Amino acid sequence: MRLVLLGPPGAGKGTQAALLSEKLNIPHISTGDLFRANIGEGTPLGLEAKEYIDAGKLVPTDVTARMVKARLAEDDAKNGFLLDGFPRTVEQAEILAEFLKEQDQKLDGVLNFRVSEDVVVERMLARGRADDNEETIRTRMAVYRDETAPLIDHYGDAIINIEAEGEVEEINERAMKALGK
Ligand code: AMP
Repeated sequence: MRLVLLGPPGAGKGTQAALLSEKLNIPHISTGDLFRANIGEGTPLGLEAKEYIDAGKLVPTDVTARMVKARLAEDDAKNGFLLDGFPRTVEQAEILAEFLKEQDQKLDGVLNFRVSEDVVVERMLARGRADDNEETIRTRMAVYRDETAPLIDHYGDAIINIEAEGEVEEINERAMKALGK
């Protein structure tokens, strides 16, 4: 299966993606994780991305898209993937669509994890990541609202809504069921 996960920062996408990846046997490709790995290794890509991530802003699309395409071209992603954190803008969605089309592939669905803003802030403050201070959280929420939320309309009928408040296992069951598994 080729899936995209959508949802505001702090919706628990990463946790759900890890579980789904294991159960569906497809790689979990998280742009945030890829950036953090590059930052950890001090690569040029990591150095370029760091200032944006620390500020809660989007890394420029050309940099991000290049990284995602390289990852999707790896062998383990040939028969399916779970994209977590990409696309984050309509422009990125168009780049992804073009990339898939070139390979005669298409998405099977877009899981949209829905949570209230209160839960999101609570979850982000609890995980204590470097870019999880109050100011960047606010910036990331604004970026989500302005740039990422429009993807829900963009994907239209491909959207599969998942209520993402509650226990991790319960949410995972909802997602599996919604996928017909
Ligand atoms: P995440 O782990 O998905 O919350 O991503 C952490 C940070 O990485 C974001 O706040 C952005 O700065 C950056 N990032 C992740 N994915 C993207 C993307 N698709 N486009 C641009 N920046 C991204």
